[in-house]
Amino acid sequence: MKILVVNAGSSSLKYQLIDMQTEKVLAKGGCERIGISGSVLKAKGNGQEKVIKEKMPNHKVAIELVLEALTDSEIGVIKSMEEIGAVGHRVVASGEYFKKPTLVNAEVLKTLEEKTFELAPLHNPAAATGVRACMEVMPKTPMALVFDSSFHATMPEKAYLYGIDYNDYKEYGVRKYGAHGTSHKYVSGEAAKYLGKNPEELKIVTCHLGNGSSITAVDGGKCVDTSMGFTPLAGVMMGTRSGDIDASAVEFLARKKGMSHTEILNYLNKNCGVAGISGVSSDFRDLEKGAKKGNERCLLALDMFSYQTKKFVGAYAAVMGGLDCIVFTAGIGENTPYVRASVCEGLKFLGVKFSNKENKAKNNGGIREISAKNSKVKVLVIPTNEELVIARETKALL
Ligand code: ADP
Repeated sequence: MKILVVNAGSSSLKYQLIDMQTEKVLAKGGCERIGISGSVLKAKGNGQEKVIKEKMPNHKVAIELVLEALTDSEIGVIKSMEEIGAVGHRVVASGEYFKKPTLVNAEVLKTLEEKTFELAPLHNPAAATGVRACMEVMPKTPMALVFDSSFHATMPEKAYLYGIDYNDYKEYGVRKYGAHGTSHKYVSGEAAKYLGKNPEELKIVTCHLGNGSSITAVDGGKCVDTSMGFTPLAGVMMGTRSGDIDASAVEFLARKKGMSHTEILNYLNKNCGVAGISGVSSDFRDLEKGAKKGNERCLLALDMFSYQTKKFVGAYAAVMGGLDCIVFTAGIGENTPYVRASVCEGLKFLGVKFSNKENKAKNNGGIREISAKNSKVKVLVIPTNEELVIARETKALL
């Protein structure tokens, strides 16, 4: 069976067509600038790439172009869209409405649209638009929603609750939901496979460090805590997001800067994090360049990010009562040796023996062990594959 994985953003739509027998990616690509001028689809298939510049006034037109590309005479990989067994849609927030991946029907779509939009106002409406667009173009093909937060549904109440009035949690669903669940699930599973162990035997801390970053405690294959919160603003500081901050400081800043609730949230999401500290960039490649040239604020941003990540590693080792493995993944986790070394520095007391040589070895795109051979705690770099998890979950639902 072939499964199409769709990740729709407000003006973008990324896709992969995956053959579930081999789990190989047959075709992939993305539409950018949907609904604005200059729309473009970059589509790969058959070892070639085509750049298709066509008007995309909405997601329906975008998905139609994707299906054309999938059946194209040059880059196409299928004869007709009937070959697509199902579509798996990435959805950021589930709230408490969906604990697991779910097949779409009218009621599910209604809940998604009426209940979850306010939990992820930038992401969930885009996902719903993507679902509706696909349903229009492929009315007979089953659609699944796969949530970023599903993997975190196993957190115990003591981990996901905030110290607020319990009645307010009940009434408004204000609690920690977490994010990047598909990535944490994938890399923790791959780590167990790599170590030749049953996931049930392992205590793993997974560090998904990208533009958005989150750290998760995976005990016996299940998430027991994670650093992101009610929204993906919480946890460690990120590219442009502040991460955890005292709520009183938020009110104070808003008052001083004359900002509304919306404006201060926008500020915390878009103008803070390592971009705010360095004053240079949200991109870690730029921060490394800056630090090498002696820019102290670039170095400070890198060090703050690593320090905050390390604190979660230590906290989660305590939560799980032990640690067998630390996993680094996503753009920074896979490509920034400085951060990995800073996070693992001084963790000997936990049983981490880090190998600077392995850490600095070239990224070969596969799994890499960057701890010393005799390290009690294994440190691994594992490329994430969220699309494959979405495809697997979709297949399992059918
Ligand atoms: P997201 O998917 O959340 O947009 P990514 O996982 O792609 O984010 O991570 C982006 C971050 O990874 C950027 O800060 C970037 O600087 C960093 N990074 C460092 N080296 C590389 C690299 N070789 N390729 C891609 N990203 C890299």
